[in-house]
Amino acid sequence: MGTHSEPTDSHDLNAAKAPNPPTASPGFSDALPAPVTAAGRDALDVILARPGRAVVGLDFDGTLAAIVPDPEQARAHPEAVPALAALAPKVASVAVITGRPAGVAVHHGGFAGVAGLEHLVVLGHYGAERWDAVTGTVTAPPAHPGVAAVRAELPGVLERAGAWQGTWIEEKGRAVAVHTRRAADPHAAFEALREPLAELATRHGLVVEPGRLVLELRPPGVDKGVALREYVREVGAEAVLYAGDDLGDLPAFTAVEDLRAEGVPGLLVCSGSNEVTALAKRADLVVDGPAGVVRLLGAMAAAMNSPTTG
Ligand SMILES: [Mg+2]
Repeated sequence: MGTHSEPTDSHDLNAAKAPNPPTASPGFSDALPAPVTAAGRDALDVILARPGRAVVGLDFDGTLAAIVPDPEQARAHPEAVPALAALAPKVASVAVITGRPAGVAVHHGGFAGVAGLEHLVVLGHYGAERWDAVTGTVTAPPAHPGVAAVRAELPGVLERAGAWQGTWIEEKGRAVAVHTRRAADPHAAFEALREPLAELATRHGLVVEPGRLVLELRPPGVDKGVALREYVREVGAEAVLYAGDDLGDLPAFTAVEDLRAEGVPGLLVCSGSNEVTALAKRADLVVDGPAGVVRLLGAMAAAMNSPTTG
């Protein structure tokens, strides 16, 4: 995979890439891209016609925020909060669904105390945690005991795998992630760690979730698909949009496909990158990274104002 143009400041990168947005569909504002599938076009029509019945689910890293070498430095795209603040009051709910702790995503996203985001929900740790803007608090059940055991053994496992240098352990509270993006050979380090980390996870009742140069060890039975489905049910939504960029978003894509089979229109959006292609193949609409996602959300909010799209 071509990593020679690895982003260092992806906000600038996204702006500089000058993407060709998908062709606008007649009848929509020029800025509103058209899904390439009939199911996606139908879902977008339903969402624009009855936004108050729709849930918008969004991944954070790589979707609302550019991927950067140090995950602690990741921040929402500068236009993300304005776009969300325009969209959120018009739809049933906006849920940010992330592998990060909910409080970290709220901080990195700048979601707290923003006018228009009073009903935003952040489902952190793949739905194991929840932050509600209306209360400003995080609620969650106790952490899986295997996470502490894995955390204790991880430095030794990395050392034995010869992948200590340049790898970086991200403490996620309810999960532990090993990043290889800063290793001398990020892809080689990633491959070298897959098996030892899978063995470590299994021994403590956890699973490994691979992502973009990151291997996350976390409890089983928690994924973005479960989180999205439960949230759609809770809200009683009649349509759903989900946007993501990485392999961890595939369960949410499956959840939307299942909802479609049950008659709930769903729009699958891929925040495109040169690192992951699995989502683009299943998406109704591929946009150019976080900048493209943010443009889409803003255009949807604008289209909901328009008398011609009712
Ligand atoms: Mg992501």
